[in-house]
Amino acid sequence: MSLPPLLLKKNEDRRLRAGHLWVFSNEVDIKRTPLKAFAPGEAVEIRAHNGRAVGTGYVNPNSLICARLLSRDAAHPPDRSLLVHRLNIALALRERLYAQPFYRLAFGESDNLPGLVVDRYGEVLVAQITTAGMEMMKADIVAALMKVVKPSGILFRNDVGIRELEGLPLYTELAHGTLAEAVIIEEHGCRFEVPLTGGQKTGWFFDQYDNRGRLLRYLPGKRVLDVFSYVGAWGIQAAAHGAREALCVDSSNTALAQATRNAALNGVQIGTREADAFDALRELHAAGEKFDVVVLDPPAFVKRKKDLMAGREAYQRLNQLGMQVLNRDGLLISCSCSYHMPAEALLAGIQSACRHLDREAQVLERGGQAADHPVHPAIPETAYLKAFFVRVVG
Ligand code: SAH
Repeated sequence: MSLPPLLLKKNEDRRLRAGHLWVFSNEVDIKRTPLKAFAPGEAVEIRAHNGRAVGTGYVNPNSLICARLLSRDAAHPPDRSLLVHRLNIALALRERLYAQPFYRLAFGESDNLPGLVVDRYGEVLVAQITTAGMEMMKADIVAALMKVVKPSGILFRNDVGIRELEGLPLYTELAHGTLAEAVIIEEHGCRFEVPLTGGQKTGWFFDQYDNRGRLLRYLPGKRVLDVFSYVGAWGIQAAAHGAREALCVDSSNTALAQATRNAALNGVQIGTREADAFDALRELHAAGEKFDVVVLDPPAFVKRKKDLMAGREAYQRLNQLGMQVLNRDGLLISCSCSYHMPAEALLAGIQSACRHLDREAQVLERGGQAADHPVHPAIPETAYLKAFFVRVVG
């Protein structure tokens, strides 16, 4: 079966040849292959201006990124066997990395599966599709996951806002098997119950695995504040690894109720405070409370490039508030998952907070996302997580 061609303008195949997977709508030779002639998600053969094949992929005429490359081999159309092949390669990496089946199994472009993310909670998979091309292949994705992983359940959390950029509806769907309300995962010797349908994103933030591991050696005897705690990943691991006390702050009472249950699951106690993080930090400061370790792991403040100015300011304010409740010689763990917020800008915000409070900072460690979220070297957007471990003196 031959695929319809998508022809690029002269030289517009260069980025793809250099390793990228995206085609922007202004790069298509719409005189010869009008985008409007394609259905959203349709499979195509992407060709250079001279007709030479670049590979196969899928199109969405309604999106700024109007096509994504799935294979550089024109003989491989986007189909079930290509998905099986890609998922096997993805699984091999994760099995090498982790002793237990709790990880991000597929990370979109970085695993040559543009538009598809799959998280693995043991026997249960939670998948998220963000492009029309992957949506068209949903049945094949389910079949490929069955073949490669043989899960007991596959849940689609197709309820993220970015789907709207591709004209896709927001929904969740159990595509295979049955599902408990929650699953149990393990991380650094702690167990966590993770909500599947009601949780944030796909349920658990596997990207912080290494950074939470970095935290462990700083804990004995410390008082820890976990801000934007969600279900208690940082705070509970802190309590279980020797912290004297851990307080979790989040605006979601369901997340905090889950955090309390997760603490019990590990035989530790935590405090919880349901509040806006900025308000809570101000109140804790006003009450004279001090902590030895403060973790700031907020949701993305800079979702689009044009939000950078406002976002930088928010990160700076947050770090300053966090520093105000930090003891002398305390540890600030400052994270950002905003791709558009450069690491250096976050560091500048931390430094500026120090100057305002007349304190000195030493960066001890800097971390990124865990290796189950590999970075695609040609696609900067795949490197998004930053975590600074900062000793604040004075
Ligand atoms: N630290 C968590 C992940 C945080 S996700 C982990 O390691 O698993 C972001 C969390 O921030 C969510 O639980 C959300 O409920 C919470 N949140 C978002 N805005 C908030 C705000 N203004 N104040 C407090 N919590 C907020």
